[in-house]
Amino acid sequence: MRAILLGPPGAGKGTQATRLAQRYGVPAISTGDIFRANVSGDTELGRSAQAYMSAGALVPDEVTNAMVADRLSQDDVVSGFLLDGYPRNPEQAVELDMMLGGLGFTLDAAIEITADVDEVTERLLRRAQIEGRADDTEPVIRTRLEVYGVATAPLTAFYAGRGLLVQVDGLGDIDSVTERLVAALDAR
Ligand code: AMP
Repeated sequence: MRAILLGPPGAGKGTQATRLAQRYGVPAISTGDIFRANVSGDTELGRSAQAYMSAGALVPDEVTNAMVADRLSQDDVVSGFLLDGYPRNPEQAVELDMMLGGLGFTLDAAIEITADVDEVTERLLRRAQIEGRADDTEPVIRTRLEVYGVATAPLTAFYAGRGLLVQVDGLGDIDSVTERLVAALDAR
């Protein structure tokens, strides 16, 4: 499987990516997780990403694209991958096509986990209390949702046009969403 996972912040992408990756035996690659690890480790990449992340903005494409290109060049990706949180705008989608073309891969699916804005805002505020993520405060959540609407949401039409879009309702408990995802993917 070679797939990307789309959906607003708080839709459950990270949780579902981990589960799907396990089920299909491919690595889940979360750009947010890679950035967070670099921020914690105080690396140069982390230092260049931190201000954007804490503001809820996208890290500049040249930084993000280089990081993804590096990750996709690693050996474990040969069996497939599930990208969680990339691409996040049309420019990154074009860049991903070029990277995959260079590696001789094609994308099998663009999975969108759909979720209502009020529901995801609630979920993110709850997660803030549990995980204490620096970008889970109300104003930053609002910015992240706006960024999703403006920059990332147009990707659903982009991938639908290529016959790759698989939409799954992200409402309900975690197991039901996983079951819906697996059913939709296996039906392809
Ligand atoms: P996430 O964990 O996917 O919600 O990502 C957390 C933050 O990392 C985002 O709000 C962005 O600041 C940054 N980030 C993650 N993925 C990307 C991406 N593909 N492009 C730019 N910034 C990203």
